[in-house]
Amino acid sequence: RLADYAALRDLPPVTKDGTRITLMINAGLRDDAAALQLTGADGIGLFRTEFQFLVSATLPRRESQQRLYRAIIEEAGDKPVIFRTVDVGGDKALPYIEVGNGVGEENPAMGWRALRLALDRDGLMKAQARALLEAAAGRELNIMFPMISEPWEFDAAKAIVEHQREWLAGRKKLLPAKINYGAMLEVPALAEMLDMLLPKIDFLSIGTNDLTQFLFAADRANPKLAERYDWLSPAILRFLRRIVRTSKDYGVPVGVCGEMGGRTLESMALIGIGVERLSITPAAVGPVKAMIRSLDRGQLVPELEKLLASGRADLRTALSDWAQAHDV
Ligand code: PEP
Ligand code: MG
Repeated sequence: RLADYAALRDLPPVTKDGTRITLMINAGLRDDAAALQLTGADGIGLFRTEFQFLVSATLPRRESQQRLYRAIIEEAGDKPVIFRTVDVGGDKALPYIEVGNGVGEENPAMGWRALRLALDRDGLMKAQARALLEAAAGRELNIMFPMISEPWEFDAAKAIVEHQREWLAGRKKLLPAKINYGAMLEVPALAEMLDMLLPKIDFLSIGTNDLTQFLFAADRANPKLAERYDWLSPAILRFLRRIVRTSKDYGVPVGVCGEMGGRTLESMALIGIGVERLSITPAAVGPVKAMIRSLDRGQLVPELEKLLASGRADLRTALSDWAQAHDV
């Protein structure tokens, strides 16, 4: 099978009936960029910049952040890289910033983390913004913010980056040719505010790991709950379908970057509700691409619509039967 996947490397992820899916990878370390060539993926859809912070004993200096980002951009060549600004706190504790469990937060996943922390301690965000702008000088920069709960948080984060851009412009530094600003949708409240958010952003990326834990009030790291809440549950798929439809209405590209997309039945369902951009773990690119190339999307869509309207709780069995019957 692995050899089969290798043969798929240079074939595009297109469904049998002609929908081109953008298939990107999730990454976070310097060496992960090599996976782009190995998998033939379309780009890095989620670069988790906090990994550098997590593996470091002290706060990474701006210069070392910049070196990492530039190396990744260079390795990616013509392919886009979406940098997600630091998402620390929650389950990602740091020895040199007091966050998460270490400072006695009872619910660190819902605590002082990611953008919340970055907006309060904006020195961190300023340094990172400068590092990203410098690293992408002369090229396109894609930057997205994690754990946005309300649209104003996007504005505040973007303003920090823009301020750094103006500072560099004032010093006649080479700037990125273009900056695309994205928001992650991981907090359910933001889904209710899409009409306010979408006109401001260049792309939306749904983080289904956090989103589903908040939607079901079920800790993503608690093994006792792992089997109980299914990514293929009607509530999740309906919720995602609404986000995808609204984004398309506003003409804003929308993708899924949670681990859900790396599982073949889940990614099939995502395509069935209209998702055309996935960012997944590199090892999943082969299997997911094989699924896409064997899928007739036009046949799946009405079937999935019917299932979502049926009141059936167990879509996994139904979808898996359908996939088998249709050679997906
Ligand atoms: C997510 O929450 O789905 C996501 C992609 O971000 P992370 O897994 O890094 O929290
Ligand atoms: Mg997340």
